[in-house]
Amino acid sequence: MNRVALITHQACVAHDPGPGHPECPDRLRAVLAGLEHPDFVSLLREQAPEATEVQLQLVHPPAYVEALLSLHPEHGELRALDPDTIVGPGSVAAARRAAGGAIAAVDAIMEGWADTAFAAVRPPGHHAEAAQAMGFCLFSSVAIAARHARTRWGLQRVAVVDFDVHHGNGTQHILEQDPGFLYISSHQYPCYPGTGTALETGAAHNVLNLPLNPGDGSTAFRAAWEHQGLPALRDFAPDILIVSAGFDAHKADPLAQLRLETEDFGWITDQLMAASGGRMVSVLEGGYDLAALAASAALHVRRLIAGQLTCEKK
Ligand SMILES: [Zn+2]
Repeated sequence: MNRVALITHQACVAHDPGPGHPECPDRLRAVLAGLEHPDFVSLLREQAPEATEVQLQLVHPPAYVEALLSLHPEHGELRALDPDTIVGPGSVAAARRAAGGAIAAVDAIMEGWADTAFAAVRPPGHHAEAAQAMGFCLFSSVAIAARHARTRWGLQRVAVVDFDVHHGNGTQHILEQDPGFLYISSHQYPCYPGTGTALETGAAHNVLNLPLNPGDGSTAFRAAWEHQGLPALRDFAPDILIVSAGFDAHKADPLAQLRLETEDFGWITDQLMAASGGRMVSVLEGGYDLAALAASAALHVRRLIAGQLTCEKK
């Protein structure tokens, strides 16, 4: 059984983009409620810290960080950074905790008190570009954690795997110039945000996109990972794997048209743990059907607890 850190913060619940927005506070409430079962009593529960300005600047230009941190909407006020990305009074603090939670997940395993970690945070991060909020995302939490793994811990080979149904344009664009990073994403294509074809291989040939057709389900998803994604991950031999864990490829999700079953998220978790080289952490991205999200995230964490981390590099 693995020691699993669960890193979250109530500030991430307080981010409210307004009535009817799919990226709603109930998402995180549902995930955390699903982890209240006695099976999860062993989780090492930690508060997500706020990412510092220096940490945010691992990815984002200082002017962008300053602009976001200086946003202080009044009670009840909402500001749209793009048509989908809405900031209320608690949003920037939540985004800082989300990035800080991703960083803390990396630290948990590098400090040695956990074998793996799940950062249950929101807003998501993988659509945020270096200097542009988009797609519900303010800070590129996973890319920040990837850079942190290098600067704080000296890890040379950092892999990011993204199984959210949407392509992680921001993560890809931030990491694709540097061969010390590998980015692999499976996602529906065409779909938001419009990027993520197989022809995008990164400036350093360190990007592997696995586009899936609307309507594809378990068979196509598993085949893409078995035949392409997992072999590429194993060949890269990462010092650490950071997973962008979005659960919106579930068949019940209202924002896209892939048809994964809950069990597929257990399967991919097991496969990634086995291919990780021994160090893997996971950060919540999307997932917009509350019941499917809660069940899928719970199964993901169940497998983090029970699954087999390979340990060549430990
Ligand atoms: Zn998504």
